[in-house]
Amino acid sequence: MMSDPAAPQVHDVAIVGGGGAGLTAALYTSRAKLSTILFEKLMPGGQIASTDLVENYPGFPEGVLGPDIAQKMEAQAKRYGTEFLFEEVREVRRKDHFFEVITAEGSTVSRAVILAMGACFRRLGVPNEKEFTGKGVSYCATCDGAFFKGKEILVIGGGDSALQEGIFLTRFASKVTIVHRRDQLRAAPILQDRASANAKISFIWDTVVDKIEGRNKVEAVLLKNVKTQQVSSRNVEGIFIFAGHDPATAFVEGFVERDEKGYVRTGESCATSVPGVFAAGEVRKGAVWQLVAACGEGCEAALAVQNYLEQHKERAGSAS
Ligand code: NAP
Repeated sequence: MMSDPAAPQVHDVAIVGGGGAGLTAALYTSRAKLSTILFEKLMPGGQIASTDLVENYPGFPEGVLGPDIAQKMEAQAKRYGTEFLFEEVREVRRKDHFFEVITAEGSTVSRAVILAMGACFRRLGVPNEKEFTGKGVSYCATCDGAFFKGKEILVIGGGDSALQEGIFLTRFASKVTIVHRRDQLRAAPILQDRASANAKISFIWDTVVDKIEGRNKVEAVLLKNVKTQQVSSRNVEGIFIFAGHDPATAFVEGFVERDEKGYVRTGESCATSVPGVFAAGEVRKGAVWQLVAACGEGCEAALAVQNYLEQHKERAGSAS
């Protein structure tokens, strides 16, 4: 069958998100000779791109730098033909037997879609947090840590990110105080041991941020003890917030089924409620939040796409 040159190009698969899950999916679909387009709003790598050292990805006994592995994954997908589009996806919808992926710049038609947008960091929602973001409030230690050489820093949170990034920040800061809202950390024991053994790190327990203060940038933080309700002020220039994440799925609301927190519900082989649409990595309900798992799910979703397209060969015509 001759294809209509006026008809828009139809990609076999559109992947939304270029973190570990999306890049691995792209590698697999490209190697399977499926025409693959990957949308990424910032830079490939997702959360790993802003992680200093990844210590639990198999095969790297000394650990591997997050930005390095992200660049290598991107290069590997490109080598097999993945097309990258650095645009933010606003909507995914059905278009006859196809899907239309819409950005501010235009739209792309594909036969299948893999949702791999990951999750965005969670804000605390306290006064001046938004206003002072980039002026002392940060959510990325590798991006901003070097601005705080010799300074005192507060780190908020008690999970793996707070401890791992808090330890990283001791390279620059004179002192790192980890402020946690409970008296028990959520972080893995190995990170707890490392943080406790670090002379530059101390902890404040049962405490939350009440307000961030300053004229044009962070100068002090008001902390509230949740047990005594006592409020105290601490003079600091930097506050790094690692309070978890929320899934970046707002634009697929009403398109695929999500849970009450916004995570995409999936069944067997990463299938969503919409046939032909798959989800992998941290957008997915039940994800385990590890790079190796995100990559595994990316692979699983890519194989499921191959299967799906094989079963729907008759729809291989062009979109109008
Ligand atoms: P997380 O595990 O969800 O931890 C978020 C932390 O922030 C928790 O300690 C939570 O307190 C606290 N928090 C949440 N909302 C808060 C608020 N409004 N005010 C103050 N504190 C607040 O998030 P994460 O540390 O970013 O980790 C996300 C996932 O990635 C996890 O599954 C983690 O294991 C994984 N990860 C793994 C590694 C690694 O393997 N090395 C590194 C980074 C992340 P509560 O404890 O009281 O809920």
